[in-house]
Amino acid sequence: MVMRLAGLLMLALLTCATPARADWMQRTEAIMGTRCYVELWADDPERGNEAIDAVMAELRRIDNLMSHYKPESQLSQINQYANERPVEVDKELFDLIKVSTHYSQITEGAFDITYASVGYLYDYPNHVHPTEAQIRAKLPAVNWRNMLLDEAHHTVRFEHPGMRIDLGGIGKGYAVDRGIEILKSRGVTRALVTAGGDSRIIGDRMGRPWLVAIRHPDNPNKVVTRIPLADSAVSTSGDYERFFDEDGVRYHHIIDPHTGHSASKVRSATILAPTATQTDGMSKTAFVLGPEKALEIINRMPEYDAVFVLPDGQVLYSNGLRPPAPRAPGAPAAATEARSARP
Ligand code: ADP
Ligand code: MG
Repeated sequence: MVMRLAGLLMLALLTCATPARADWMQRTEAIMGTRCYVELWADDPERGNEAIDAVMAELRRIDNLMSHYKPESQLSQINQYANERPVEVDKELFDLIKVSTHYSQITEGAFDITYASVGYLYDYPNHVHPTEAQIRAKLPAVNWRNMLLDEAHHTVRFEHPGMRIDLGGIGKGYAVDRGIEILKSRGVTRALVTAGGDSRIIGDRMGRPWLVAIRHPDNPNKVVTRIPLADSAVSTSGDYERFFDEDGVRYHHIIDPHTGHSASKVRSATILAPTATQTDGMSKTAFVLGPEKALEIINRMPEYDAVFVLPDGQVLYSNGLRPPAPRAPGAPAAATEARSARP
């Protein structure tokens, strides 16, 4: 018996003494009404787990602040009272609303969080869309310029009756950036954080780039193209994410603020830039303005690149991503295989 105990003790000591094995760790959770995913390289599994916990907690915190589904969130308070009076909110939420107006400016109004004044009339899971008369009645409330933002007091006031806002088009990108900041502050040097269509990568996959797949709009198993990425953010918006079809019309979750209808000038838009707030903020542009106008805007901004899948299946690339000229026979291929950011 004593021998057995001594043996067990020895085994326990040996287990403790064995250095924890460095490895990739990953976890998926449902937060912000979507799939959130963290993958990182951890020297120590316990610290890796704690880092993933911290990112997931941050995503939940941001959701509680900004969700329009939660009546107690500060965003819901704005929607409830900003038609009557200025509503004071945390600096963090105020700043993100302000950032959203920057994207309204550079996208000529294609990105507009007041789209929600009409957007709330759509209910995709239940196949509900507004009538033309309903859209006409609510459309005048869609205009980001009618949001009065008071920098000194962090208040938001709507200057038009019937206005609503929704951060569904930028909140996930912002949350991903916050998650990445947390990982960096914990010394993580290789990781991916994804929330819905928004991802950001730090580092690479041990000397090789991540390969981010852009799916075919009608076939989730078919890949249109793959982009090698390291130290970058990427967002894809698609008309196949939240939608229903009726009488040959696709009603989906990206709304043209000028018409109140689903914006259908492209099938999907992928944007690359250093941060996920940037890529999320820009990924709706081509749907509303069309691919040519959107490319013109993207090509003017050196930090950004884009890939658009058009209704006829054509794929358009921004200047920084144009496929290289055909390889000379025998020349080596450029990118090596890694993992898709949206497996
Ligand atoms: P995901 O939620 O998967 O990241 P997107 O980045 O494509 O998807 O964002 C789509 C969301 O953006 C919609 O569900 C809606 O909340 C919001 N949205 C729709 N149209 C607009 C618009 N014109 N401007 C700003 N936000 C929009
Ligand atoms: Mg997004």
